[in-house]
Amino acid sequence: MRFWRRHSELVCRDAVALMTAYLDGELDDRDRTRLETHLADCPHCSEYLAQLRVTIDALGHVDIDELSDEALDDLVHLYRQWRAG
Ligand SMILES: [Zn+2]
Repeated sequence: MRFWRRHSELVCRDAVALMTAYLDGELDDRDRTRLETHLADCPHCSEYLAQLRVTIDALGHVDIDELSDEALDDLVHLYRQWRAG
């Protein structure tokens, strides 16, 4: 599958894993750049980040552990549908 091929780029799972640290301003420059590069090319991760911001605004915080496999699988599923369309 083309999407998973390039190791130099973040895959969606990696991007999601970085998002809470990104929103907290805790990423170093390299990881922040990688994430922003991914977001620029990935509308679903951009949407996911927007939802994460809303969640954090509502709850005051979000625990990455609570995003867990189910949320990540949802995201990958959305992404595959998007690529297929
Ligand atoms: Zn993505």
